[in-house]
Amino acid sequence: MTDDLPFGRYAGAGRTILDPPRQRDGTARHGYGLDVFAQCGYTCVYCGLDMASDFRAWLQLSVDHVVPHQMAGQGFDRRHVESVSNLVTCCRACNDLGNRYAPPPGPAPTTDDEFLALRDSVFRDRRAMILKRRAEEEAVYRKLIAGSPR
Ligand SMILES: [Zn+2]
Repeated sequence: MTDDLPFGRYAGAGRTILDPPRQRDGTARHGYGLDVFAQCGYTCVYCGLDMASDFRAWLQLSVDHVVPHQMAGQGFDRRHVESVSNLVTCCRACNDLGNRYAPPPGPAPTTDDEFLALRDSVFRDRRAMILKRRAEEEAVYRKLIAGSPR
């Protein structure tokens, strides 16, 4: 099932390992992110923030490794981890909320298909974790701010 995943719109319908993004000078927004946005668009894959809607939203634009980049140092194939197929558009807030994610322990995938299956399951886990943390943050916000005079 891929309908709830962003990868279906990627080249090869998200089932192939694409090249890593071309390295360019500058931030993700005008550097290596360009190849990611070309596949994934300008909407946060976790919370749905449209970062093309205005300039403030644009400044939230970032790129997330679904399977964390540090797995390349733990036996994962760099070709997999650094592929655009493992990169998504996300907002800086979701990126922060998800950056302590550790994938479940297990052997490194050896084939492209194994990696892509792991990516899909890690994406679902990360999204659930990020949305849970957003809900917790929203509860704090509502308690502290929303009811207060400003
Ligand atoms: Zn977001």
